[in-house]
Amino acid sequence: MAAQNRTYGIDLGTTYSCIAYVDDTGRPVVAKNAIGQETTPSVVYMETADHVVVGQDAKSSAKLYPDLVVSLIKRQMGQKCDLTFHGTGHTPESISALILKEVARSAAEHTHEEVRDVVITVPAYFGVAEREATRNAGEIAGLNVLNLIPEPVAAALHYETLSAAPGRGPSTILVYDLGGGTFDTTVIRLEGDDVRVVCTDGDHRLGGADWDERVAGHLLDSFLAENPGSSAAESEDFLQELAIAAEDMKKGLSSAMSRRYNMRFDGGTARVELTRERFEALTEDLLARTFEITRRTLDVAAAQGVDRFDDVLLVGGSVRMPAVAEGLRQRFGFDPKLHDPDLAVAKGAARFALIEAVKVRLPGEADAASDAEVERAVEQAADQLGLEPEKVRMLAGRRVTTVVPRAFGVKVVDFTGDGREVFSVSHVLKANTALPADPVAERFVTAYENQTEIGVEIWEQAGSVESDDLADNARIGEGTITGLPRIRKGSPIDISFAMDELGTLTVHAVELQTQKELRIEVRIQGLSESQVEQARQAVARYAVSQ
Ligand code: ADP
Ligand code: MG
Repeated sequence: MAAQNRTYGIDLGTTYSCIAYVDDTGRPVVAKNAIGQETTPSVVYMETADHVVVGQDAKSSAKLYPDLVVSLIKRQMGQKCDLTFHGTGHTPESISALILKEVARSAAEHTHEEVRDVVITVPAYFGVAEREATRNAGEIAGLNVLNLIPEPVAAALHYETLSAAPGRGPSTILVYDLGGGTFDTTVIRLEGDDVRVVCTDGDHRLGGADWDERVAGHLLDSFLAENPGSSAAESEDFLQELAIAAEDMKKGLSSAMSRRYNMRFDGGTARVELTRERFEALTEDLLARTFEITRRTLDVAAAQGVDRFDDVLLVGGSVRMPAVAEGLRQRFGFDPKLHDPDLAVAKGAARFALIEAVKVRLPGEADAASDAEVERAVEQAADQLGLEPEKVRMLAGRRVTTVVPRAFGVKVVDFTGDGREVFSVSHVLKANTALPADPVAERFVTAYENQTEIGVEIWEQAGSVESDDLADNARIGEGTITGLPRIRKGSPIDISFAMDELGTLTVHAVELQTQKELRIEVRIQGLSESQVEQARQAVARYAVSQ
């Protein structure tokens, strides 16, 4: 039986992207790109008004055309950020769409079939806005986004296929993912058909690119030390060259004990030798930050009764630096394993895409389908997906449970002794609550006499640690209960927060005396449907290549 409707998993990485599918024998396979590599730099070169280059050549073009090359766009996902190239406006979504379009295009060349149904990966701690932006990027690229999956969950799904003997007992794993631009640690529980995130934490501004920057800085310092008064530091060209050399040296130092580099600028020269020891010293604090976050994750897991790990998975290209495994061994006593560090996420996403493809084809619990109807749907899905019916039944049983990535709450006011207002955020829905999160309610009281309306502002934790300071949170929605009969100060209001599997937040507020209520469904102020459609048409007009 041939697969007729393959589904794909796309790891849309900060620095490298990768696409995979499950082949007819049930094995996950990475579709190599146009130049035969398994991963493609997430770099876009807006070459002309109608042609863009994605990947290695785009990365190399950064030196010549820094203003036309976009990298690390994932760090901007979910933020308002307008970019213009050749007179055309762009957003983080549309730039990401160009990357997705190219990886889908080259996978199509590889499999000789159109790529349509996909699952795209996101860091586990991505908030609602970032997830929404990622989904939109997929749609702008003309793809049908079946679902998103947290990267560590994808890695765990892949790990499970490598290690699983069916019927084996539950296991707990820690995923340490250090990529090019992001870092996260996640505790995952595998138990029967369930894959459950216990807790997750991370820093989306910490990754291999920071190690590169340190090395590039070191190269520049060495050059300037030998060529005092040189204007090398002002040359965009020279700095780009150092950035590329720095990443190469860093990668080299994962296997070699020392690397050399010769620099030349404006008649001056310098020769640098960097040893692994010196490299590790230059970047020690960066690594220490990942261990701090790991410690925090372990503490949260311990508070939930999870303190034994069957395995520690190292994911992301940067875990190839020997200091990572060494540090985890020394600090935490772990015996970490490298499982396909740069491909595991895409491969696991491919598996999840298949699970999702099965699920959309079968009646849900709410449909109350008869056994015969279910059986027909199984046969049909098996036929469409090129799978055995038994396999379809098995995949349909898989449940992936994720958690609320960050805390959500409302803005509240307090008064100082001299009557000044002090605003802060009171979190109601806590980070790491399992999804779907049933409504959690909290009682608040009105702050002023004779209020005829109550404004409800919804805020999301912005940093990686929960803090009630407004500055550490982002406002993501608001609404007002109106038409109140001048209620007394201190009148109670119940506000509840709930979140579905897809991360859509629903806030319900009730003023108890009048029972007047307010329901806010947080649709992030990302792109509207018509903006997505517009961007889709604009992106469709580009010829994309590598
Ligand atoms: P992301 O998912 O963030 O896009 P990846 O998981 O693909 O990133 O990892 C990319 C990062 O891994 C880059 O910073 C790259 O320099 C780094 N990297 C790749 N290979 C090595 C290596 N051998 N040694 C050290 N770092 C590496
Ligand atoms: Mg990654």
